[in-house]
Amino acid sequence: MKKFFINTYGCQMNVHESEKLAGILHQRGYVAALSNEDADVILLNTCCIRETAETRVLGNLGIIKKIKEKRPNVIVGICGCMPQKKGTAEMLKKRCPFIDIIFGTHNMYKLGEYLDEVENRGKKVLEIWDSEGEIQSAPVLRDGKVNAWVNIMYGCDNFCSYCIVPYVRGRERSRDFDEIVSEVRSLIEGGYKEVTLLGQNVNSYGGGSPQFSKLLRALSKFDGEYRIKFMTSHPKDLTLDVVEAMASSDKIANYIHLPVQAGSDRILKLMNRKYTSGEYLEKIKMIRSIIPDVGISSDLMVGFPTENEEDYLCSENLIKEVKYNNLYTFIYSRRSGTVADKMDGQIDIKTKTDRIERLIKLQFDIGNELAKSYVGKTFRVLCDTVKDGIGYGKSSCDKSISFVASQDRVGQFFDVKITQAKNNKLIGEIV
Ligand code: SF4
Repeated sequence: MKKFFINTYGCQMNVHESEKLAGILHQRGYVAALSNEDADVILLNTCCIRETAETRVLGNLGIIKKIKEKRPNVIVGICGCMPQKKGTAEMLKKRCPFIDIIFGTHNMYKLGEYLDEVENRGKKVLEIWDSEGEIQSAPVLRDGKVNAWVNIMYGCDNFCSYCIVPYVRGRERSRDFDEIVSEVRSLIEGGYKEVTLLGQNVNSYGGGSPQFSKLLRALSKFDGEYRIKFMTSHPKDLTLDVVEAMASSDKIANYIHLPVQAGSDRILKLMNRKYTSGEYLEKIKMIRSIIPDVGISSDLMVGFPTENEEDYLCSENLIKEVKYNNLYTFIYSRRSGTVADKMDGQIDIKTKTDRIERLIKLQFDIGNELAKSYVGKTFRVLCDTVKDGIGYGKSSCDKSISFVASQDRVGQFFDVKITQAKNNKLIGEIV
C-alpha cells in the first residue's frame, strides 16, 4: 500500500486543510506514513504569516531533497499559503527543482488531479490561482476522535496592515448554513464531543450579524453532551447577539479568542485594526457582564513599525486590565506586499526581543495569579488524551487541566476539582 506524510505548518485552518489533503489521498488508496522517510507522497502544507514559518519550510525542503535523491520515485508536493504568495512558486521551482507539485490555497481540492499528472503522465505541476473561485468540498480524514474542526468561512477582507492573509487566502466567502449544520450534526452523532468552527473572521460569517449567532444557536440543538467552539473573532465585528447566543446554551463553550494585537491607539490605527483600545475594553466588559466565568485569550504583537516605549507600555497596561487566561505573543515580522512592510520606523531586533520577554514574563505572572485563584473550584472537563495514567483536558472556558485518569476516560466529560496550581498549570482530581 502506498503511503503519504503531510508536514503541516501554521494555524488550525492549515491543520484542518491537511485533514482534507489526507482525505483526498485516502480516497486514492493511500494510507498515512509515520514520517517523510517512510512515505511515497510527501506534502508540505505551508504558512507564510511570519518569516520563521517560511524558514522552517525551506529547512525541511533541504532534508526532503536528500530523501528524493535516495528514492527518486517519491512524489514531493508543496501547497498552502507560501506558494500562493506572489513570486514564491517560481522561486521554489527554481530553487527546489525536485518538487513535483506546487499548488496554492484556492486549488487544494485538485490534489488528486495533480497526482494523476505526476503518477500517470510523468509531468510536474505548478498551478497557482489568482482568485479564489467557488468553495469546493473535499473528503476529510480526521486526526482525532474527540475534537473536530469545521470551516465555516474562508478568506479575509480586513487588510490589517501587517498581515499577508488577505493576499494569500482571498476575499471572505461563507459556507452554506445548512451544509455546516449537517456536517456538525453528523460529527456529534458520530461521537465527536467538541467541534471548533474555523474562519479568519467568524463574526462576519454570512455577511455579518446576526448570521453567526443564528448558526451558533442552530448548532446547540443536537442531543447529548458536546461543545461548540469558534475562532477567530475580530473585535470590531463581535456583536452582542453572538455573546447572547454563547450564553444561551451550555453547548457553546464559554470561551472566546479576541485578538487585540496592541494596546496603543496610535499603533492600532497604523495596524488598520478599526477599533481603539477603549472600544476593545468595552467589548470585554460586555462579554463579562453576560458570561461572568468566560475564558478570554488574545494575540498581541510587539515591535510593529514606530512602536515606542510608551506604545509598548499601553500593551502592558491593557493585559494587566483584561487579565487574559491565555496570551499568544508575537514579534512583528515583515511580510513583503503588506502596507506595514513599506513603513518607516522598523524596530531593531534587540528592542523587539526585550519587549517580548517583558510581555511574556508579565503574562506568566498574571496567569499564575489566575491559576492560584482556581484552586478549590470545580470545572466540567472534556478529556482528550490520557498518557501514562494522566488525563489532559479542557474546561468550557478553555482552561487546560490534568488529572489522574484511566484510558477509557478519553472522550468523556466529567467534573474535576482543582487541587493545585503550579507554574500556570492546573492539576485536579475527578469528582
Ligand atoms: S483580520 Fe487582520 S490579522 Fe486576521 S486574517 Fe484578516 S487581515 Fe489578517
